[in-house]
Amino acid sequence: MPHDPYKALYLHMPFCVKRCGYCDFATSAVAREDLRIDEYVECMVLDIRKASKEGKLGDIETIYLGGGTPTHIGASRLSSLLYGLSVSCDLTKDGLEFTMEANPESLDERLVRDVWALGVNRLSIGVQSFDDEVLGVLGRAHDAQSAREAVEAAHDRFENVSVDLMCGIPGQSDESFAESVREAVRLGVTHVSVYPLSIEPHTPFDQLVLANLMEEPDDDAEAAQMELAAGLLADAGYSRYEVASYAKPGYECRHNIAYWTGVPYLGIGLSAATMTQNESRRMRVTDGEVTDDLDRAQMEAEDLMLGMRLARGVSDERLAEASKHLPDAVQEIESLAADGYLAHEGGRWRPTKQGWLCGNDLFGRLLDLA
Ligand code: SF4
Repeated sequence: MPHDPYKALYLHMPFCVKRCGYCDFATSAVAREDLRIDEYVECMVLDIRKASKEGKLGDIETIYLGGGTPTHIGASRLSSLLYGLSVSCDLTKDGLEFTMEANPESLDERLVRDVWALGVNRLSIGVQSFDDEVLGVLGRAHDAQSAREAVEAAHDRFENVSVDLMCGIPGQSDESFAESVREAVRLGVTHVSVYPLSIEPHTPFDQLVLANLMEEPDDDAEAAQMELAAGLLADAGYSRYEVASYAKPGYECRHNIAYWTGVPYLGIGLSAATMTQNESRRMRVTDGEVTDDLDRAQMEAEDLMLGMRLARGVSDERLAEASKHLPDAVQEIESLAADGYLAHEGGRWRPTKQGWLCGNDLFGRLLDLA
């Protein structure tokens, strides 16, 4: 179908040094020397060149190289990939945001300098915790000290460095979690993402829970730790611009905001979703299979839902536009406000603290409008 141009590009690198116990991402534990990684990188470069020739990369404003663990493939392969990308897409374009995910066990100063020189301008480091015991429970391949060193190495070239932290982990006390948040602040990162642990089907953690060898994360304890992070990060000058994302002013992740604001994106690599849309239809395709095919009303409901993930919420104009396709939208928004999930201020409907705490209910009711 004719569709709006892609503004965001996602590249997926599905390799890790080992598999963490909670992970259900599209990735495999593969030794760095394995030739399958070379083949994968070559295919990815060919796919990027093809996308460029088809004119799909001309309007790209944000790029995200995620995984898996992109840094696991090493500096040499990453350089080939980034070089291939640089001849297919203008990486010097004013304002282009180019994020690469990194894990502490495979991020060193040489790699930091190489990827920076080839156009990456934001690093997102999978730290999860600065507590060795907690990292052990998660089955991470790094310890707290190497996480600190990775953030310091990143700062050798990058000013825009994000860390991911996780809460609700079995055995993780509030104090341990709070100390990890404080450590991220002390290290001077510009962005922090905070996720509650969730037990995904068919993961080792799922097996442990089913065998009564691990307790399921407690929703209230997770919510309390999310609030703890919100308080500590607000005190340190980070604003919570999305339910799980905190940034120093000007360092909000534009690629993720593109996902939450209905911007078409192109995915290249295993299990990387591509979203196309025009006036009347939005489609997501993963590995050649249509995973979502939304009509206009469903698009509007999804946009309202995604909008409420963001602190800025949804404007009155946007709601009026959505109402043309969702007759009950205004009534439902008012009902969500009456329940304390939303507040109306400055011409916008914004999620409240309560709304984010009960996110599943809030988001579900908006999706149900279509
Ligand atoms: S490093 Fe990330 S992608 Fe790799 S197994 Fe662990 S959680 Fe999954």
